[in-house]
Amino acid sequence: MPTAAPPAEDGYLPSAGLRRAVNRIHSTCVAPTCSIPSSSCQPDHVIPYPTGRTELGNLLPLCARHHLLKTHRGHSYTHDHERGTVTWTTATGHTYIRDPGGITTHRSPRASPT
Ligand SMILES: [Zn+2]
Repeated sequence: MPTAAPPAEDGYLPSAGLRRAVNRIHSTCVAPTCSIPSSSCQPDHVIPYPTGRTELGNLLPLCARHHLLKTHRGHSYTHDHERGTVTWTTATGHTYIRDPGGITTHRSPRASPT
């Protein structure tokens, strides 16, 4: 039986309860093909705090390596909360779409004709 989403929180760091809610939805790091358990990941604000709120729809688990790639190495991602997909773009322009089941699809840069 589904439960109501926990409320948005005021601080930067999510409470243990909110982290558990995030980890119930995402069992692993959401980066392409990564299988690090979300319990060992860091909660990442999809839209950086404080523009993005500390709430269920704006938090995803990233392992330390992928958190570093996103924060300091030019990788980025977007999250479609309704579909549960995460679209990850590397610094070289490769795009990876990870579906809620963990299946990753790769798109090369400039794969479509211009
Ligand atoms: Zn990872």
